[in-house]
Amino acid sequence: MKGNEGMKRIHAVMAMTVGIMAGTLAQAADKPGFTDTPMLPGGKWHVHDPDRPAPTVVTPAATPGGAPSDAIILFDGSSLDAWRGERAPWTLDRGAMTVPSRASSGGENNLISKQAFGDVQLHLEFRSPTPPQKSSQDRGNSGIWFMQRYEVQILDGYDNATYADGTVGAVYAWKPPLVNPSRRPGEWQSYDIIFERPRFAADGSLLRPAYVTALLNGVLVQNHQAMLGTTVWRTVGQYQAHGDTAPIQLQDHDSAVSFRNIWVRPLPEDAIAQDLKGTGQ
Ligand code: MG
Repeated sequence: MKGNEGMKRIHAVMAMTVGIMAGTLAQAADKPGFTDTPMLPGGKWHVHDPDRPAPTVVTPAATPGGAPSDAIILFDGSSLDAWRGERAPWTLDRGAMTVPSRASSGGENNLISKQAFGDVQLHLEFRSPTPPQKSSQDRGNSGIWFMQRYEVQILDGYDNATYADGTVGAVYAWKPPLVNPSRRPGEWQSYDIIFERPRFAADGSLLRPAYVTALLNGVLVQNHQAMLGTTVWRTVGQYQAHGDTAPIQLQDHDSAVSFRNIWVRPLPEDAIAQDLKGTGQ
């Protein structure tokens, strides 16, 4: 390369660099981003589009597991106001609520949220009774029934043999958890669950199943797992069309399971993962 050709190239690179910096700075003073970039799938936004809305600011809790600023508190240990028992209130004692005995309730007594939800992120903590009594499905059984239909199982899963699709972390009667990260009975355990409700066509046919992602004690147990349909014991679940929202139900399975720190974040439509066409379903 001759000397003057090399200098020309350096000048060209410098000019280009200055041009890019000037453009970036001009946009940074207004709205950072680029409009000379290709369009993303969906045809709405450029790559790094400056007009794409910034995410809503949410203040996280001061401590892990605490409710962020946009959460709906379903139970903070002080009152059962967000719930109704099918037959009677659940027991509230020292910041925890517990499934009451069948004798005091007069029969099966599930707990139902007064508010209805569709797509949600849920945090919940539970504690299996100690010392453990009985075995298999009769030991610390409860469950989270999204939309009162789709159960993510709660069970005392510590050293308790049972069928895999019925242990803690299971999509009951369908999908065992990926692993069993159970704590001992008597210790508080956490569930963090993202539930995506099913979608139905106007004629009631299924467009998209429900999906669930669940972490038990911070460990992934279900990863965007499609659900079979309404949970039924000893039966293959099926879908029956229903509305876009329904209550969350905590199961009374005749075990004195306790709960604390329950909050949810209803999720917007764009929380449903977009496909590579950018269509969102
Ligand atoms: Mg159950």
